[in-house]
Amino acid sequence: MQSSQHGRCQCEKISYSFDQSKIISAHHCHCRDCQRATGSGKATIIIVPKKHVNLHGELKYFEVKGSKGSHIRRGFCENCGSGILSYAKEIPHIFYIKAGTLNDSSWLKIDSNFFTESAQEWNKPSDAPKSFQANPSLGSNIKTLFKSFK
Ligand SMILES: [Zn+2]
Ligand SMILES: [Zn+2]
Repeated sequence: MQSSQHGRCQCEKISYSFDQSKIISAHHCHCRDCQRATGSGKATIIIVPKKHVNLHGELKYFEVKGSKGSHIRRGFCENCGSGILSYAKEIPHIFYIKAGTLNDSSWLKIDSNFFTESAQEWNKPSDAPKSFQANPSLGSNIKTLFKSFK
């Protein structure tokens, strides 16, 4: 199935597209960093290999230390502040795209909830198939990630 998905920031300086069939997975992340970055209860992220993402415009990055000692680079539009995507410095070929920036995200299926331990009462984890208290153990996820490079 070939279906091109497009998204953009508020002011349209940043836009992107990717093929829906290249998506690895999609998640709600309730970590405190995502709560701060979105100003909301969670971020909804779509994991897509970087090589399948066409990005137009220059993102500005803010780097934070992730829970497992990795460095998460959060990319946003310098002009309007919309958070577009992030990636771990240690795994730069995997993008985490913020689902809310898609022009149409009605097709999206959520695989799991991350960081349910820091989920807020007013924004509880959804009934996605799986939930993880923090990061899913890399052991289980890394296999899926690396499958996409073969
Ligand atoms: Zn913008
Ligand atoms: Zn998060």
